[in-house]
Amino acid sequence: MDLFDKCRAFTQAKEIQAAGLYPYFIPLTDSEGTEVTVGNHRLIMIGSNNYLGLTMHPRVRQAAIEATRRYGTSCTGSRFLNGTLELHLELEHRLAEFVGMEAVLVFSTGYQTNVGTISALVGRGDFVVTDKEDHASIVDGCQMAFGEMRRFRHNDMAHLERVLAGLPGDAGKLVVVDGVFSMGGDIAPLPEIVPLCRKYEARLMVDDAHSVGVLGGGRGTAAHFGLTDQVDLTMGTFSKSFASLGGFIAGAEDVIHYVQHNARSLIFSASMPPGNTAAALAALEVMQEEPERIARVNQIGERMRAGFRRLGFNVGGSETPIIPVIIGDDMRTFVAWKALYEAGIYTNPVISPAVPPESALLRTSYMATHTDEQLDCVLATFGEVGQALGLIG
Ligand code: PMP
Repeated sequence: MDLFDKCRAFTQAKEIQAAGLYPYFIPLTDSEGTEVTVGNHRLIMIGSNNYLGLTMHPRVRQAAIEATRRYGTSCTGSRFLNGTLELHLELEHRLAEFVGMEAVLVFSTGYQTNVGTISALVGRGDFVVTDKEDHASIVDGCQMAFGEMRRFRHNDMAHLERVLAGLPGDAGKLVVVDGVFSMGGDIAPLPEIVPLCRKYEARLMVDDAHSVGVLGGGRGTAAHFGLTDQVDLTMGTFSKSFASLGGFIAGAEDVIHYVQHNARSLIFSASMPPGNTAAALAALEVMQEEPERIARVNQIGERMRAGFRRLGFNVGGSETPIIPVIIGDDMRTFVAWKALYEAGIYTNPVISPAVPPESALLRTSYMATHTDEQLDCVLATFGEVGQALGLIG
């Protein structure tokens, strides 16, 4: 038995490529934020997480350039050793103030933040309880932890309570939810989750990757619900509203100190490059100085949800600028993706096993910098494609 047999047997992607429907790893020739080109083909981008449109903001770009000039292109080492700059500490300090927590620790990606934090905190004999639609990085962190993982049905509070009630009373417990779910665009019901965590003495961690910069005046899901002092750990990434790359965990001083000395994805991996750190810092400043961007992206979310519904599409339980257009079948999703792509609209198809096959969807997401004309064009094109393929009446 050759280890590589499985690679030769893996034909699924090749079959989709042969059918001319392969939608992944498409190299962009150029990007201006809301519009991109692939070769000479121009598309309106509604597949990005650049919620505030800051990747092209002059101040954010300039900050990255200046930091690269001053410190070079890389820190060439871990935060633990030679890879901590004063710039990292400044970012941590400013973020702690922004999200209203005692301390913050910055990692090189959001993925590493979840993996490192969860695996450091959930030790032998502890339990971690997750929503079934939590992000893959949370699942991977749980699998790396020495403690045991339990899952509850998506946003199902009765099920969460049953799971918590079934755990040993004296065990350490961590509940981890996405604040905004990355595919459905719906919000975790923190006003119900917080009292359950209290009742069963569980700590609560909220992944705010899609919430910081979008909800609660940009401060995230806890702020959205007025529960900032009720959430134990807030996680965020810089790869979305912050127009950079990296991630952070915010919480009480002693907890962050512990994670800092135990998270393997922090200790054994090189730190955020200077340019990314400075870009995240500049984005944080712009976010606070230009709150109209936050208002605009939420207003666009409402407008697009209403528009899709008017056309007859199913957008599930979306409440944010992430709007899934549910097609309900993997192959039809690829066909719809392709028709939209050819008509100049860039979406992200999400099929099984990422979602159940009956929930296969086109994930759409918006930027504060999308113009009304672009948005009208998106809706008109969805209408035409939906009619032509019989997806809507
Ligand atoms: N959490 C959630 C909910 C996400 O959607 C993502 C990225 N898609 C991550 C964590 C990981 O973030 P990063 O891209 O910074 O690694």
